[in-house]
Amino acid sequence: MRLHSYAPHSIDDVTEEELKNIYSRSMVRRRSPGRAVYDLILASPPHGICPLCAHRIASSIDHYLPKDYFPELSVVPMNLIPCCADCNRIKHSYYPAEAGEQILHPYFHRLGSERWLDADIEYLHAGPVLVYRITAPESWSSDLASCVETHASRLDLFLLYSELGGVEMAEIRHRLNRLLSQSGSETVKAHLIAEAESRQHSNPSSWKTAAYFAMAASNRFCSGDFG
Ligand SMILES: [Zn+2]
Repeated sequence: MRLHSYAPHSIDDVTEEELKNIYSRSMVRRRSPGRAVYDLILASPPHGICPLCAHRIASSIDHYLPKDYFPELSVVPMNLIPCCADCNRIKHSYYPAEAGEQILHPYFHRLGSERWLDADIEYLHAGPVLVYRITAPESWSSDLASCVETHASRLDLFLLYSELGGVEMAEIRHRLNRLLSQSGSETVKAHLIAEAESRQHSNPSSWKTAAYFAMAASNRFCSGDFG
């Protein structure tokens, strides 16, 4: 992936404004000639989930290389990424200057099947908090590892996943308390590992997989400090 090295260039006889208008007037606008392609791109992510945050619903299209700086790519399909409104807003007009500064491009970047998202339970103030981090597999290049770090930080994903994890922990607290009182902390740990493995089978690096492995790894958590 070398999209960071793409240099903007002009097209003869077409102004930047005209190029951007092709997108807004002939692709986004309903009943415009290109709207069917727009809808096809928007419907392309599995289960309709945003490929940038892997959580919210894809409801918009982002220009990977922003059309304000690269108007000639306004309607180039590989530059049009389905994503949620929040990721679109947060990413805004960001574009990479270096190879390791690229946000992950869902059409090109491949992360493999090894787990790369991890979390730890920390007790910062009152209750448990999930603190996320990237654990780069050896098979990744250093550029890919940097891109994943850039992706997570630029899109505020660790904060999102920590907040979602907080909700998840609140929702399972009653179940964990019952398991603890009936069978003890080892049963709680075994239950959490089974839940983690089930999620890992579906997606090894989802925020939930990391959350359940983190809960299972915390002796304080498994001993009843559920928050
Ligand atoms: Zn998103």
